[in-house]
Amino acid sequence: MLWRELLKEGADFPSGRFFRHRGVLVYKGDPPEVCPVCESNERRYHVHGSFLRWFVTLVGRKIERVRLRKPRFKCLICTHTFSLHPPEGLSYKHTCNFLIVVFLWSYLASTAGMHRALPAEFSEDASPRTVSRYLKSAKAVAVETQQFIREALIEKMEPRPIEEIFFGGPDPPESLLKKQRAEPEKASTLWRALAMLFQGAKALNEDPRTLLAWANQRSQNRKRRFLL
Ligand SMILES: [Zn+2]
Repeated sequence: MLWRELLKEGADFPSGRFFRHRGVLVYKGDPPEVCPVCESNERRYHVHGSFLRWFVTLVGRKIERVRLRKPRFKCLICTHTFSLHPPEGLSYKHTCNFLIVVFLWSYLASTAGMHRALPAEFSEDASPRTVSRYLKSAKAVAVETQQFIREALIEKMEPRPIEEIFFGGPDPPESLLKKQRAEPEKASTLWRALAMLFQGAKALNEDPRTLLAWANQRSQNRKRRFLL
């Protein structure tokens, strides 16, 4: 299947900031430049425990549920605590961004409706209802998603122009516009964003998970929505 072929060996977690400890995946990110609560840039933090939650992701080329430990920090300026979220996921979702992209793409790139577009291998992890919900949220932020993927690509492509990959921009298949009569523009934008992700990763010779993590990092830095 196409998405598996896109993946590179050894790129499971592009940020490279994870290690395994007693069966738990531990995220070891640096405290942020700016406090997410008071926006102080003094970087005066104390480590304040950690936060354990489930994370559904790809390990190798298989979907796995892993325990993920995220660090917590206390800002000494405003005294608030906050958790640090890896760029591979969204703070409010258990499923990693790349799997969400794969679920969405299975539907967007297929001629079939939602119930038949999802490959059987996803049946345990993504029901048509779940993916329909993802699709609804993803369409609402499709412009932002496209913007951050484009920005990440431009930064990594330089000095080559982004147009080298997209000759006028790819167009979504007719079948998608038929399936998404209610909001064809939003569905098209989302399709373009994800097509750009896959083609961009290929042009850069990177794993799409890496490009997706870069794009999410940019949205996190600017406190903007991304993907969902
Ligand atoms: Zn603070």
